[in-house]
Amino acid sequence: MPGQTIGILGGGQLGRMMAIAAKQMGYRIAVLDPAEDCPCAQVADTAIVAEYDDPEAARKMTECADVVTYEFENVDVKTADYLQEHSYLPQGWHLLEITKDRLNEKAAIKAAGLPVVPYLPIRNEEELKTAMAEIGFPSVLKTTEGGYDGKGQYVLKSEDDLKEALPYIGHVPFELEKWLPFEKEISVIVVRSTTGETSVFPVAENIHRRNILHHTVVPARIPDTLREEATRHALRLAEALHLVGTLAVEMFVGKDGKVYVNETAPRPHNSGHFSINACETSQFEQHIRAICGLPLGRPDLLKPVIMVNILGEHVQQVLDKISLLSDAHLHLYGKDEARDGRKMGHLTILGSTVQEAIDKAERLGIWKI
Ligand code: ADP
Ligand code: MG
Repeated sequence: MPGQTIGILGGGQLGRMMAIAAKQMGYRIAVLDPAEDCPCAQVADTAIVAEYDDPEAARKMTECADVVTYEFENVDVKTADYLQEHSYLPQGWHLLEITKDRLNEKAAIKAAGLPVVPYLPIRNEEELKTAMAEIGFPSVLKTTEGGYDGKGQYVLKSEDDLKEALPYIGHVPFELEKWLPFEKEISVIVVRSTTGETSVFPVAENIHRRNILHHTVVPARIPDTLREEATRHALRLAEALHLVGTLAVEMFVGKDGKVYVNETAPRPHNSGHFSINACETSQFEQHIRAICGLPLGRPDLLKPVIMVNILGEHVQQVLDKISLLSDAHLHLYGKDEARDGRKMGHLTILGSTVQEAIDKAERLGIWKI
């Protein structure tokens, strides 16, 4: 109930935006993160500054928090076990185990009856040979664990591209995926409460640059039949995985007109940030409602919207224009070091149509940042 404390594992921008939504509803926040003054700690009531595998930190968390959630998928197993036993973790760890490993995740997606691009596990050179013979070029080699924003990936167009990855084969588990010529990348965020109530956000269209999400456009500019197909895929997956909390489902619209599931994240997602300003309920508020067993809010889109990420290299340009941004919602995450490619914040711009929102962003000079 409001007044009680929500514990968050991980204190980055996702934790911070969860905390802001929760504080609005009257909850208190305790965050566990190794970095002092992390984005979430700046808005939390209590910050436990420690490594994620520190048993003392896990004990402190059980003392402070009435319910625990997480903002990232690589939660330490021992901490997870401890919290499972001594605290209240409505989302459980089952989903984390599946989604933190690409092979487990792909298997679960297939088992739910949803299409994925052809892939094979690569645990040694022998398997690489077999997989190359079957899948061939173009393809992409991905580490099975720990990858994000394209990290741990090798795009293979020819034999030459393999050289860079070869020293790691056999030491780190990989999967080889066929390269899918896609029309669009889209995502759907689905939230399911401890009571089983489920809600799904409007389909987002995502444009990546250098493998990092650059901007999101909602509604996605795809035919309604594909929109419905993508929404059905997300709901099917939520059901198959017995979801509690939030699941972001990244998908490709293939040139063959089929919707493939690429990967999932068991938490609020960058491609759902548009919902803060453009939906009746944001993904963060919905997540808090779901884990606290409150009735879910409506996820309806109030207005067409674009969301543009502000990376380290964009911060100064955006700050220089701050006096012009009356028509854009500026979100900054409170990170002090603006490293290249680091997610520092985002801008949300609403319009009566998507094109109007894009035109506004162009006029402000924030569209092509
Ligand atoms: P992560 O987001 O964890 O780094 P993804 O699997 O989402 O990993 O890959 C990052 C990006 O690379 C995708 O958003 C997409 O643009 C591209 N990509 C990944 N796999 C494929 C594929 N099989 N075919 C075409 N593009 C791909
Ligand atoms: Mg991805």
